[in-house]
Amino acid sequence: MQKLVVRIDSPEFPRNWNVIDNIVFLSWNQCVTRYFDVVFDLPVEQRFTYSAPETGIATIGVRALAPFGSRELTGFIVGEHESAPAGMKNIRPLWRVVDKDPLFESREIALAEWIAGFYLCSCGQALSTMLPSGRRPTSSPSMNTNEITDSPLTLSGEQKQALIALTAPDPDFLPLYLYGVTGSGKTEVFLQAAEFVMQAGKTVIYLVPEITLTYQTAEVIRRRFGDTAATLHSGMTGSERLAEWMRIRRGEARIVIGPRSAVFAPVRNLGLIIIDEEHDGSYKAGNTPRYHARQVAMHRCQIEKASIVMGSATPSVEAWKLMKEGKFRRFDLTRRLSGGDTPRIRMLSLAQTTGCLTTILKEEIRVTALMGKQTILFLNRRGFAYCYRCPACGYELTCKHCSVSLTYHKSRNRAVCHYCGYETEAPRVCPQCGSLDASYAGFGTEMIEEEVRRTFPDLRISRLDADTKKGSIQKTLDLFRLGAIDILLGTQMVAKGLNFPGVRLVGIVFADSGLHLPDFRAAERTFSLLVQVAGRSGRFSPDGIVIVQTLRPNDLAIQKACALDAEGFFDAELNQRNATGFPPFSRIIRFTARSKDEQKAGQALAKITQIAADLLPPDADVLGPAECPIAMIAGNYRRHILFRGKTMKTLHNAVRSIISRYEEHREPKVYLEIDVDPVSIM
Ligand code: ADP
Ligand code: ZN
Ligand code: ZN
Repeated sequence: MQKLVVRIDSPEFPRNWNVIDNIVFLSWNQCVTRYFDVVFDLPVEQRFTYSAPETGIATIGVRALAPFGSRELTGFIVGEHESAPAGMKNIRPLWRVVDKDPLFESREIALAEWIAGFYLCSCGQALSTMLPSGRRPTSSPSMNTNEITDSPLTLSGEQKQALIALTAPDPDFLPLYLYGVTGSGKTEVFLQAAEFVMQAGKTVIYLVPEITLTYQTAEVIRRRFGDTAATLHSGMTGSERLAEWMRIRRGEARIVIGPRSAVFAPVRNLGLIIIDEEHDGSYKAGNTPRYHARQVAMHRCQIEKASIVMGSATPSVEAWKLMKEGKFRRFDLTRRLSGGDTPRIRMLSLAQTTGCLTTILKEEIRVTALMGKQTILFLNRRGFAYCYRCPACGYELTCKHCSVSLTYHKSRNRAVCHYCGYETEAPRVCPQCGSLDASYAGFGTEMIEEEVRRTFPDLRISRLDADTKKGSIQKTLDLFRLGAIDILLGTQMVAKGLNFPGVRLVGIVFADSGLHLPDFRAAERTFSLLVQVAGRSGRFSPDGIVIVQTLRPNDLAIQKACALDAEGFFDAELNQRNATGFPPFSRIIRFTARSKDEQKAGQALAKITQIAADLLPPDADVLGPAECPIAMIAGNYRRHILFRGKTMKTLHNAVRSIISRYEEHREPKVYLEIDVDPVSIM
């Protein structure tokens, strides 16, 4: 083992003498010094130079503790030199090296630099994101089944075609896309492609959306590949994740499954990246760097000469356009191999209905129960009702810290903010004018539950949403699967990745709930969600039925979803985006200024607007500055500006200059978030 050298005349002596067991003490003049470039998890692009003894363990890819101003910070060593950079004096020594072995290889440092360049963050921030940090320990299903139990299935003709394309050498490394409904056999193709790649001595990264799907797919992969599989997910502790990371680094695990951050898995000899449910919003990071796993995956595959395959029943509009242009190779899987059939879908207007269940939906619930089958009622919103409004004076109860309506939770008689968690007692009369007419408008899962219980007192009903405790989620799902529950009510949680054999009826109570959001992707999200939810039904039974209730029966996204007409929806949506100049016909970089002081947030964006006027290329334009749709979160005012350009290249260059000029006159007490290719503009 290498020895750590501590200079007895350096400031770290004797402060860390007990940290590492193997220490050799040398005096100042016994050391040959080397110089190291260090980057920190800070929004500063600069590399900082430090010295350390040549015989020490400092090397590229390890973390080191270093003096930084009057503080000490842990940074990443990303470069080294034999002599001090010209003109640099008073180079301070590193205090100590944190890792025995490098965490990053030069290939990964290069990836971090690419992320920093693309997502406009620092290299230190990118490296920090790539590191397998973990949250607090939480219980997670253990998956230590080492024996391999599942063998590959005989593929259908459509599946075989896709697999052949995926395993044939392609000098262009064109991404492949498996487009097919749930149950059409995408996973089986992914698994057999992975096996092929691994038999050729290469490695595989298998990306899945957050949480629910991770467990299910991880289990399937474990059963197929045994010990050669590694799982990375946010339910694991930091040390569990680090252990898996090291197993991957040592080459013991050759297929890695996990959510978006698994795209950074330190596999060597990468052969294939799989992106399941490509359209899923969880592939985009919500913190700096706000990377998209699909973008990073495509870059990695290009650099490392690996293949990439994605799949979904509801591709993103971006992916659809690339398929149309032939830049992604599309393979259609049209048959449900799990049996079952396409469900019948009926759209019903809610306009004349009191309450939230139409007569027809009520009748179908009854028929389903009489057949001994089950119903799922889906609603994209928790709580009893979603806002408190006074018809007399127009008063609306909103969060003190954010600007969104509070959601009323009847069981606790509280109004709750779903962004920051603020709660208050629900008022009996209008706080502004005293009217007794003020009431709760809109539907929530609790309100539906109440109506459903009143209407079907003899049926067994359960609710599942983000308010449900972790342990009881699994219990409820198990009971439902066993047939011990007749009606399951819930939010997204029931829509994603869950397959219930006894389900006949899926009711979407209020299909338009996402449509009024001021976001150019509102229609895409609504369409995608409805099709995904509808896909739950009929998966196992031939007579599946989906009822879609809406106040906007003429809306295109709702109509096309009910007709399961993806081509029709995407064509119309692409035309619309083209006409309005939104992605995928342009690229956007969004700046959000956040401050406790409303004026300062406005001033920061005023400065940026002024700077941008000189620097933006002619093919770019500016939207805003404006208040964000959610104008306040947790006491911070939020204003944003969108820069929109034809290509990312020109936009990047301009925005980099804007940022650096703004840095010279930055507004104090304002935090600036930069989001390249934003997925949400709330
Ligand atoms: P998807 O990923 O598209 O939802 P899966 O690959 O999970 O679809 O397949 C759905 C179901 O069909 C699974 O139960 C799977 O075992 C089964 N299946 C997949 N491919 C075949 C096949 N070639 N022959 C028979 N059953 C298959
Ligand atoms: Zn009022
Ligand atoms: Zn709030």
